[in-house]
Amino acid sequence: MNLDVAGKKVLIRVDFNVPLNSDFEVTDDTRIQGALPTIKKVLEDGAAVILMSHLGRPQKKKKEDGSIDVEKFSLKHIVPYLSKVLDRDVKFASDTVGPEAKSLSAALKPGEVLLLENTRFSPLEAKGDEEFARTLSTLADQYINDAFGTAHRAHASTTTVANFFEPSNKSFGFLMESEIKNADKVLKNPPRPLAAIVGGAKVSDKILLLEKLLDFVDILMVGGGMAYTFAKATGGEIGNSLVEEDKLDLALKLIEKAKENGVKLLLPEDSVVADSFSNDAASNVSDTDQIESGWMGLDIGPKAVKSFSEAIASAKCILWNGPMGVFEMSNFANGTKSIATAVAEATKNGAFSLIGGGDSVAAVKQMGLADEVSFVSTGGGAMLEYLEGKELPGIKAIQG
Ligand code: AMP
Repeated sequence: MNLDVAGKKVLIRVDFNVPLNSDFEVTDDTRIQGALPTIKKVLEDGAAVILMSHLGRPQKKKKEDGSIDVEKFSLKHIVPYLSKVLDRDVKFASDTVGPEAKSLSAALKPGEVLLLENTRFSPLEAKGDEEFARTLSTLADQYINDAFGTAHRAHASTTTVANFFEPSNKSFGFLMESEIKNADKVLKNPPRPLAAIVGGAKVSDKILLLEKLLDFVDILMVGGGMAYTFAKATGGEIGNSLVEEDKLDLALKLIEKAKENGVKLLLPEDSVVADSFSNDAASNVSDTDQIESGWMGLDIGPKAVKSFSEAIASAKCILWNGPMGVFEMSNFANGTKSIATAVAEATKNGAFSLIGGGDSVAAVKQMGLADEVSFVSTGGGAMLEYLEGKELPGIKAIQG
């Protein structure tokens, strides 16, 4: 972040898309905490700060009469919390590019903070609308994007608005910078061996990631629901486990690609199986390719835990995306827990570890291991796309 902000008004796109309870209190402040270093630095350096963010999906969840549910999706609910953590009164504009935002921005003094209303109250936000973005840009002298979680969206407040600022007047915030820097550690010249662990429900969600990883990792471990599509593709009996019949060929191609590229591909040898999709189901351990009909694999088994853990221990760089089983149910959380522990252990022994995207992040946090890995990404979909090698519009708009 190399902007000269003293005496300026700085428009900062943050990700304040936080969960609220029925009294509209913030129940998980991770995202707000993530943005605080940037906001505090800009204030310390003598600027006025105008914050903007989205909250939820107000366009998709309209009221019965077709209007926006302002009460439910208003960012005004965040103001008390934000005032407390910034130790000053945060002003609030009940619009984003309307008269209130304009007059409050114009009157804003160094050290003061203004929060604009939810950017997604306007349908123009998601369209990346030029005029909407231009008006936003007129509120401030400089622009900082610190919302990595939405960097894969070409929205007005994350992307288009940056085009209205000169290169010397726009920058990433600290959070964006560290997300990019840490992902690049894995993508560009990583210490080796480089091991990737990919899990989650479906192969179809992770095709691009798996294909890309096979180009540059040394070891690839596949767990979670997607492992059963691989098991079936190679002739295994998988009972009632999750499977994507239309991805069986793809699974074979990925296995072939791993061989061609000399990547050690590890699939779970055994699974914890259950007779229904429930934490109370009867459960057992079975070889992954011999699951009886009526049973489904809901977690990786003890042999898989052992071989995955050994592979993780041998790595100098580790990337993990997606849980190894239905970790939300305590009886099927052991595989994910064990892998989290193995990653933490390898980190302690000097490996670099990045937990990138979605449920594996939730799992690591749930297990209290977030501080024992090198980096936990805040950007689910954005991190996935970055790791897939895509150019994220929010990054490009700053870098030019
Ligand atoms: P994803 O969002 O693709 O990372 O998928 C995460 C979801 O995959 C979690 O909600 C897990 O419960 C689910 N999942 C993981 N393993 C399995 C499995 N063996 N069968 C069904 N769902 C699974």
